[in-house]
Amino acid sequence: MKIVILTGAGISAESGISTFRDANGLWNNHKIEDVASIGGFRRNPTLVHQFYNERRNQLTSVEPNAAHYALAELEKHHEVTLVTQNVDDLHERAGSKTIHMHGELTSHKCIACHDVSISMGDTSTESVCQSCFNVGTIRPDIVWFGEIPYHMETICEKLHDCELFVSIGTSGIVYPAAGFVDLLQNKGTDTLEINFEKTFSNFKVGIYGAATITVPKWVKSLI
Ligand code: NAD
Repeated sequence: MKIVILTGAGISAESGISTFRDANGLWNNHKIEDVASIGGFRRNPTLVHQFYNERRNQLTSVEPNAAHYALAELEKHHEVTLVTQNVDDLHERAGSKTIHMHGELTSHKCIACHDVSISMGDTSTESVCQSCFNVGTIRPDIVWFGEIPYHMETICEKLHDCELFVSIGTSGIVYPAAGFVDLLQNKGTDTLEINFEKTFSNFKVGIYGAATITVPKWVKSLI
């Protein structure tokens, strides 16, 4: 079966990475607009670098959980396209081929020459771009609010072609990802939400509970 799976912060919550909105729109005690917008970066780049350095360093102390591993197993049995809004690397570490629509903590980009470099190292306002050698032009390779998500053409093709669309651990608030389900409802494609609790999105079927329990159980029913 051709399946498109969209994951969000909820799938990594039980690995110890806090979600975006579960704490009233604060991400690790920061206002989202301060750490996830170009305006926030211009106002206080030092804070933004520190914030993403902490998130990147946290990756070394967290592990993929049973839900990440179950999706990697599903790929062996079905034609799965895994799209994540997450910026962590837990899907890859569980063995999944992953499309990161909101960027990745493990890469940086240069606002002068647009070069993207893979690195686990810290960045600061003093960082030097290894491509154009400008100083202070490096920013996190994260799609912030108001910016265009990555890989939209591929994602739209896969959505158009799929038989089942599954959303896991996402609040369904951030667009365009939040709009995928409506696109498919209109086409008559089967849609499934797996989340801690029911969201306001319009899925045909829902499975509710902790991802480490619900996702492996659902995957088992398909293989
Ligand atoms: P969100 O925080 O808005 O929503 C998380 C959803 O997951 C909620 O609906 C919540 O009920 C559910 N949830 C929480 N714990 C769960 C669990 N154990 N099992 C199942 N569901 C659970 O997250 P979102 O919709 O992904 O928000 C989008 C933005 O958050 C993304 O753009 C992403 O870049 C950013 N983000 C990413 C990470 C990460 O990479 N791990 C962490 C925080 C935020």
